[in-house]
Amino acid sequence: MENIKKLLKGDFKTNVSLKNFSWFKTGGSAEYFFEPYDLEDLIVFLKNKPSNIPVFILGAGSNILISDNGFNGVVIKLNAFNKISYMGDAKIYAESGSFNLSVANFAKDCLMEYDLGITCFEFLSGIPGSIGGGIYMNAGAFGSEFKDILSQVTALDLQGNIHEFAVDDLGLSYRANALPEQFIFIGATFQGKIDSKNIIIAKMIHIKHTRELNQPQKVKTGGSTFANPTGNKKAWELLDAVGMRGYRIGGAYFSDKHCNFLINDNNATSNDIENLIQLAKQRVKDKFNIDLHAEIKIIS
Ligand SMILES: Cc1cc2nc3c(=O)[nH]c(=O)nc-3n(C[C@H](O)[C@H](O)[C@H](O)COP(=O)(O)OP(=O)(O)OC[C@H]3O[C@@H](n4cnc5c(N)ncnc54)[C@H](O)[C@@H]3O)c2cc1C
Repeated sequence: MENIKKLLKGDFKTNVSLKNFSWFKTGGSAEYFFEPYDLEDLIVFLKNKPSNIPVFILGAGSNILISDNGFNGVVIKLNAFNKISYMGDAKIYAESGSFNLSVANFAKDCLMEYDLGITCFEFLSGIPGSIGGGIYMNAGAFGSEFKDILSQVTALDLQGNIHEFAVDDLGLSYRANALPEQFIFIGATFQGKIDSKNIIIAKMIHIKHTRELNQPQKVKTGGSTFANPTGNKKAWELLDAVGMRGYRIGGAYFSDKHCNFLINDNNATSNDIENLIQLAKQRVKDKFNIDLHAEIKIIS
């Protein structure tokens, strides 16, 4: 891998701590860490890397738990892929490293001269991730999810070949995609609708206030730990019923305010958080015979 470095324009490092790249602020180091300069640089890297080296694509790190043992492979971070542009006809193109909030604000503001904006992007303002992570997770909130606004996605396979996917090709469902192999999302075209800017602003303010009211703020968390199972009960209700609200292991605990949120109180290890996830799953299984599935991706 060291020989690849001289072919690259971007930053390529070894043994990089991943702690600060995850919202939980826990976890070990990446064996290799690459921030491509541009698409061409990423393709050069993919075409020259050993085919058996594991690859992890890091977005904004808001939905991952990095193991204390770190990641033996290469972590790729698409920092340079952050351009957002208006394509006309209420279509927006965003590169995959763009933050959701930036895209929501862009949609609100891109028709400024007419007192109009592009609606349907407001829900993005409440999801603290990147466009790439949002596509992968089919992230959603307030009754909307990525698949409702996505139309086309550009991606690379791990050999560096470009693919164009229509939204239906991705098999997006509740917090999941159904792609048959690992792809790196590069950018996506989204379809919205033109609406009054004031209405868009009001929706974004409502989302912000509702989040502040219902979710712990300024904490080290990965958001919802478990996906809601099928059936009547939400994950948080099941967790509450088995005594997980406020329950602690080491420096990690389930939030009192929103008991599907796990929080690092500053001293947690990823191991503490993983142990809490296992304990909660076991308790819910024992009491309700329901298998909870972690929404958070554990990287090891
Ligand atoms: C406070 C808080 C609130 C949250 N609220 C919500 C919510 O309301 N709704 C919701 O759905 N989620 C929510 N989340 C979870 C999280 O924000 C989303 O899942 C988000 O879409 C993850 O994006 P990310 O860029 O942070 O991805 P990461 O956490 O970095 O990665 C998540 C997954 O996406 C993959 N990935 C990232 N970028 C790419 C790419 N370019 N190509 C291919 N794969 C990629 C990663 O490999 C990984 O498997 C919340 C999280 C927090 C911390």
